[in-house]
Amino acid sequence: MKSSIFSAPVSHLKKFNNLFIELTAKNCNLRCKHCYIDFPLSKKIKDFISIDVIKKALNDTAQEDIQCIYLTGAEPMTHPDFNSILRLCLKRTNVCICTNGSFINEKKARFLKRVEDESEYEIIFRLSIDHYNEIKNDDIRGRGTYRQVLHAVKSLCKYNFNPILNITNYYNEDPKVLINEFKKICDKIGFETQEHNFVINKSFDKTRPTTTESLTWESLDCEYGRILTEKGIYTCPFLSNDHRGRCGGDFSDFADKTLLETPFCSNCIENKHLFFGIDFNKFSN
Ligand code: SF4
Repeated sequence: MKSSIFSAPVSHLKKFNNLFIELTAKNCNLRCKHCYIDFPLSKKIKDFISIDVIKKALNDTAQEDIQCIYLTGAEPMTHPDFNSILRLCLKRTNVCICTNGSFINEKKARFLKRVEDESEYEIIFRLSIDHYNEIKNDDIRGRGTYRQVLHAVKSLCKYNFNPILNITNYYNEDPKVLINEFKKICDKIGFETQEHNFVINKSFDKTRPTTTESLTWESLDCEYGRILTEKGIYTCPFLSNDHRGRCGGDFSDFADKTLLETPFCSNCIENKHLFFGIDFNKFSN
């Protein structure tokens, strides 16, 4: 007889390559329709992660082979100590800024290039934009966001950064069409792109049921990293500050496995590639 006891598959941390840091307790200046975050009604600067917590995490993970630190926020550039945190993280490894691009203009891009030049590591930008058509994009992300993010891309290119466009496929379109159309837009603003400049993620559905059938997957963010928040350590950005993703209080002692028991996990498995981490293999090809 088939057991009716729920048993979820388990994912193990294979390599700790990606350290995500949630800087702003999910604070954001935008309210995109598809965002996985249930926005807090009021988050104040006192709720944001402190630089001391980040310093401790970097010490506790000194033996790990961290290849990239991802600054998330929701919008990380709303943290008042953003520049100091960026400099601190760049002493350790490459830093990816996961941003909606609202706070990047030419002046900021010039400043960020100076910060990068002080370090032996690289700043990578992952900028969110969801459609090549301005009206469709702004319907998801808010009026004016399309122009804002393209201005950010243009400013970053001027200072020789090579941003990644993070596209949530909200309208469920053919990914090849999406990339071709985005390439044309990038060409127009003088940004020469390659395949690795585009990451297309599925638009996920928080309400979908969790699959309990036997599952196979290619790679999951929880196999290659953990996220630090002001409340502790969690498996991945989807499950930050969610008890189902809790891995411990700090990196001196944290869980290296997790049950894939949430609707987010089913979305991750279907996505076929990492939602949040960068596949650096693509860059070396
Ligand atoms: S949501 Fe995705 S990355 Fe997070 S624990 Fe589930 S499968 Fe892993």
